[in-house]
This record gives sequence, C-alpha cells and structure tokens, in this order.
Amino acid sequence: MAAIAKRTKEILSILDDMYGTERICYLEHDSAWQLLFATILSAQCTDERVNIVTKDLFVKYPSLEAFASADLKELEQDVHSTGFYHNKAKNIIACARRIIDDYGGEVPRDIEDLTSLPGVGRKTANVIRGNIYGDESIVVDTHVKRISKRLGFTKKDDPVDIEYDLMKVLPRDHWILFNIQIITFGRQICFARNPACERCRLREYCKEQGGKK
Ligand code: SF4
Repeated sequence: MAAIAKRTKEILSILDDMYGTERICYLEHDSAWQLLFATILSAQCTDERVNIVTKDLFVKYPSLEAFASADLKELEQDVHSTGFYHNKAKNIIACARRIIDDYGGEVPRDIEDLTSLPGVGRKTANVIRGNIYGDESIVVDTHVKRISKRLGFTKKDDPVDIEYDLMKVLPRDHWILFNIQIITFGRQICFARNPACERCRLREYCKEQGGKK
C-alpha cells in the first residue's frame, strides 16, 4: 500500500507541476442550473461547442421557469449542434420542471437527488457537487477513463467502477483536481489516438508504454 501511495503521490506531484492546482470549470455558467444543463449538453460533444451554444441559449432562456415552459421542438433546434438533441432537450425541460416542483428551484446537492433527475448520471452529478458545492468528487469523463487505465489506477471500463477505484487511490484533495488536470493532459499530450508519448512526463508510470514505476 505504501508503494502505491508513493507512486500516486509522484504522479500527482508531476500533474500539479504541469497544470497547477486551480479548480477550473471548462463549461461556462453563472448558476448551478446553467452548469447542470451545460453538462447535459456536453455528452458526446466538446466543451467548446457547448460554450458556443449556451452563450445564446442562456440569454434566450434566462431562468429555470423559461426552460420548464420551453417548446420541445424549438429547444431541440436550439441545442441541435451538440448532438443527441432530442434526448438532451427533453431531459433539460424535464429537469427544470423537477427542480422547480420538487426542490423549490434549487439544484439539489445530494448524489441520490441529483441522479434522480432526468438525464443526470453520476458524472453530471459529480460535476455539480464538485463545482457548485465544493464537495470532493471524481468526475469520470472520457479523458479520465482512458488515462486512468494508462496510468495503472484502474483496469475497469465502467465509469462508476473507475470512480470507485480512483476514490481508493487518490487523496481527497485531488478528487476534483484530478479531472481538471487530466482533461488538459488528454487534450494536450495523452490523446486517445497517437498520444504524444515522446514529450510525456508520466511515461515511466505508463502501463501502455512499458513504464517501470
Ligand atoms: Fe499517455 Fe503516452 Fe504518457 Fe502513456 S506515455 S500516459 S500513453 S502520453
């Protein structure tokens, strides 16, 4: 266990050095419900595209009530370019109604309440818990999923299993940070295809590249 903790500490220290320890959210938002809807829209879509769409969307629909009474077909057109627009629009309207009816217009904090909302899984719930409420949580997105395996933190494929494996190995003060750092690492170096291993500072820890540590 001590060896695993030492290895983890070394990896996290390199990530801290590369990307700093500031908690950044890549999805632009001014409120909890805006972040919730932006996160729903981000499924199978880039944060960049979501930010373009939400810039106009949150002007057109400035409140939860506006989303709750939105016309489904019109909202589908508004979010069309993020993909899977039918389900996303349907879930956003249903979510807005549930938050108003069951939670007095406040996005809930508890993971069970969050995941009971339409279209909200553990990933989205953890984005809200970490970014809005500051609750330590691990967001397993496509970058965290791929790179956690490469770095030997998990052998699993299911995001919930990966989340639990990461909870066992990462210190709590890095739960939120790990996702932020790994997103940047995944975008800049550890690409899904043709990762830039020749300039990777974590190569000696990489299970895919025969790392010895
Ligand atoms: Fe990713 Fe390559 Fe670094 Fe391994 S060595 S973590 S595959 S960039």
